[in-house]
Amino acid sequence: MHVFHSARTISLSSVLAIWACMSLITNAHEGHFHKKGGGAKSSAGQTTVAQLAPAPVQVPKAVDATEPLDNGKPKLETARGIVFEDTNGNGKHDDGEPRLAGIKVSNGEDIVKTDDQGRYELPVTDDTIIFVIKPRGYMTPVNEDNLPQFFYIHKPAGSPAHLRFAGVAPTGPLPESINFPLTKRDEPDKFRALIFGDTQPRNIAEVEYMAHDVIAQVIDNNAHDASFGVTLGDIVFNNLDVMEPHNQAIAMIGIPWYNVIGNHDLNFDAEDDKHSDETFERVYGPNYYSFDHGPTHFMVLDDVTWVGAKDGEKGRYFGGLGERQMKFIKNDLAMIPKDQLVVLMMHIPLIGVEDRQELYRLIEQRPATVSLSAHTHYMEHRYIGEEDGWKGPEKHHHVINVTVCGSWWRGRKDERGIPHATMSDGGPNGYSIMEFDGAKYSLEFRAAGRPAEYQMNIYAPESVKPTELESTTVLTNVFAGSEKTIVEMRVGKDSEWVKMEQTPMNDPAYEREVLEELKWEQRNWRDLPAPHPTPHIWSGKMPAGLPLGTHLIEVRATGPDGKPVTNRRVIRIEE
Ligand SMILES: [Zn+2]
Repeated sequence: MHVFHSARTISLSSVLAIWACMSLITNAHEGHFHKKGGGAKSSAGQTTVAQLAPAPVQVPKAVDATEPLDNGKPKLETARGIVFEDTNGNGKHDDGEPRLAGIKVSNGEDIVKTDDQGRYELPVTDDTIIFVIKPRGYMTPVNEDNLPQFFYIHKPAGSPAHLRFAGVAPTGPLPESINFPLTKRDEPDKFRALIFGDTQPRNIAEVEYMAHDVIAQVIDNNAHDASFGVTLGDIVFNNLDVMEPHNQAIAMIGIPWYNVIGNHDLNFDAEDDKHSDETFERVYGPNYYSFDHGPTHFMVLDDVTWVGAKDGEKGRYFGGLGERQMKFIKNDLAMIPKDQLVVLMMHIPLIGVEDRQELYRLIEQRPATVSLSAHTHYMEHRYIGEEDGWKGPEKHHHVINVTVCGSWWRGRKDERGIPHATMSDGGPNGYSIMEFDGAKYSLEFRAAGRPAEYQMNIYAPESVKPTELESTTVLTNVFAGSEKTIVEMRVGKDSEWVKMEQTPMNDPAYEREVLEELKWEQRNWRDLPAPHPTPHIWSGKMPAGLPLGTHLIEVRATGPDGKPVTNRRVIRIEE
């Protein structure tokens, strides 16, 4: 059998061994911390909302602290404010600007709707973020980096001062009225969003890779007509000071950008999970929240639970949502009509979240849900069913999205000086364009620096003997393929399409590249991760009886959206 010619001078197990030593993903302390100088600055979000003039109606005094709850629970205050239509867009509630009724506002657990005067009331502790749940047909302000400003941070004493990367500066006493401006806009049923997996620059050089390799392409394509974008966590790589230049680069895309927290976006010196998101909160706002766009409901979840260093043990993270967030999810879903599409966005894939069964119980009876994650730096579609404890009538579609940084910007550099960053599944780095239409959605993969048509690689020998045809395997890696993808091949325009078989395995070209790159002694790049067996490879055999000469292999892959993608490869048949 003649499949590939790869001279394996270095064994794959030695590569794996090298990789085990480098402990890539799980060691949160990899990379260098840069001591943050100076004091914390307050978030733009906070000032946007805090600067708002108090509502002109009589609002009861805010400092009407209730009695302390049962033992140990923090003393509560009541936050009050209004949600209004900011017709002149100045962020302030001016005379004559309508107050909006029925708008949802949350303290991260309870969700209340504004009354007919646009008013809300919510209990807060001395560490609460109040946020408005953007309704369909309205938009919140965005800051200079296109980050949505839909929240007010209430931390009278600020974040813990000892954190290496600054958290939130003391916000002072609770304002009399915390008002949320919204502006009206049209949001049709059909719209698009850009989905970025781990962007994860560890420094400015990697922000620049992202800018040249991905952002420029997105800008060239008018942001693919997307209404907004989302980064699914690992926005940066441990150095939280990179958030600012990173955000500035993303802002060039020119659309509002939402962010999910990842395990590399944490304050690792925090003693517990609650204080591990302080820098994220300063820059992006609450660590979980939700919003509507068009007819679709989006939930941004924090599924990274931090366990601080203790008794000589290093800090670590695990996949978990926690009790308080689960309550928010439950309250949020209870207010969403059952047939509305709910999109859950998180960093760690759902199958790695410890309390996922609790989440399954909340979503499995809904007819339209889909969830998105990243974190693994390979692409995969999971259809979660009984085997994982899912009890819904239909399986749940979970997308592990392609990452923008591919394999953490590893691999040899191209003529632009940018690493090829091919992921461990053999797929290129890139992003997804997700289209929504009512309760329907579809996903389109886009490789960085490649035309839209580049959706798969085909592997076959350069030449085969006529007698070897039937034993010659053709493989194809359909980067965004899944068990729902039909993959077919044919050799020659007039022949029949023949179904290929899904054959989980390592991508052979990637395996070869990993070994090839290790042969270079003076490498000016970071070595690739070990290959990861991927389910999105299909295999087929060459048809017998082809005449000598040069032939064209075509592969066609049709995903659940019914749109076929194709690629071709030339093969010679010779004696
Ligand atoms: Zn991650």
